[in-house]
Amino acid sequence: MFTDLVGDRAAGWDRSGEIPQDVLRGLGAKGLLCAQAPAAHGGLAYSSRRNGELTAHVGSLCSSLRSVMTSQGMAAWTLRRLADAEQQAALVPRLTGGDLAAVAFSEAGAGSDLSALRTRITRDGDTLVVDGAKVWTTNAAYADLLVVFGRTEEGAGAVVVPARAPGVRIERITDPHGCRAAGHADIRLEKVRLPADALLRGVDRTPTLLVTTALSYGRMSVAWGCAGILRGCLNAAVRHTTGREQFGVRLSEHQLVARHLAELLIAEQNATRACEHASDLWDAGSPDMVTAAVLAKHVAATGAAQGSARALQLLASAGSRDGHVVARAHRDAKLMEIIEGSSEICELLLARHALTAAG
Ligand code: FAD
Repeated sequence: MFTDLVGDRAAGWDRSGEIPQDVLRGLGAKGLLCAQAPAAHGGLAYSSRRNGELTAHVGSLCSSLRSVMTSQGMAAWTLRRLADAEQQAALVPRLTGGDLAAVAFSEAGAGSDLSALRTRITRDGDTLVVDGAKVWTTNAAYADLLVVFGRTEEGAGAVVVPARAPGVRIERITDPHGCRAAGHADIRLEKVRLPADALLRGVDRTPTLLVTTALSYGRMSVAWGCAGILRGCLNAAVRHTTGREQFGVRLSEHQLVARHLAELLIAEQNATRACEHASDLWDAGSPDMVTAAVLAKHVAATGAAQGSARALQLLASAGSRDGHVVARAHRDAKLMEIIEGSSEICELLLARHALTAAG
């Protein structure tokens, strides 16, 4: 279904910076943008592994669309973990029914360090008031609902904000380096008044712990998406190097070219195995899933950044036009080393795990 729907349109979406609303809402209404949502809430109840394979497939076609899936899935997962039963029953069916959602935690002064969040969620009688500014929220330009993390009087929390509520200003980022049609936007929230039940009634925790709940889903989704980027690059590289001759032989028969192909295959397999491992732990409900998701995201994102550079090297001028699948992959994959915990933050988390496990 995604293959037919995306077809050769991904390059055009990338150039225009926009995925048509009917595409997004059509997929959303089929539950495909957050396929792990439970059937009781209109979802497809996919396992993490099955959703991962779907995400990789979309990632091989269009990382902007995959990014929208990541945000929608992250919003649904956050509601599942932090909202009470009544809130879930009211909100999750909207996400499986065609409404679009974004998750906003990053701020100008709080990127890697989420303990520095400054957005405030305060009570005023029966209402909540939200004040703050979020940056680089994927899918926000398309979204109906924003899951916004901030500080509460008790600690930290998340509120669901209608994107068109008075006081909300969504400012699209018009020139992202990659995933150009993923609807990235900065969000201003000025005295946004919401009913008290907009605050997810999960337990108050520290900002970092709260956001980690959302990030674990995001990491899994980005990791599978990067496995998909590598599959797209490998296919393009094999097609090109077996179809073109230089110096009287196919490109693939030059040993230095063959080494690039081998490295691409290794990166794709490493990413896939790490994703499968993390998804299996997720599906088994194992707490080890948290670290496995960090590992999968790190292996897949660094592999995709390096692998897409190799693919571009192999296709050379043939892959150098902006909308070409490997040119897009090269730009898109680099951003995956920055989001959902940058490579450095993933390495710090993995080092901490290694020290704990050894100790
Ligand atoms: P900084 O935190 O300023 O880091 C700058 C550099 O310093 C990085 O290389 C980082 O790894 C390194 N660094 C920082 N701290 C350390 C440390 N302790 N040790 C070693 N190195 C360190 N945010 C959302 O809330 N929602 C979204 O949907 C979303 N989507 C995004 C999509 C894209 C394409 C991008 C680019 C960003 C998105 N973000 C989103 C924001 C993203 O989460 C942040 O960009 C990311 O957390 C990094 O923060 P920063 O950009 O402020 O970099």
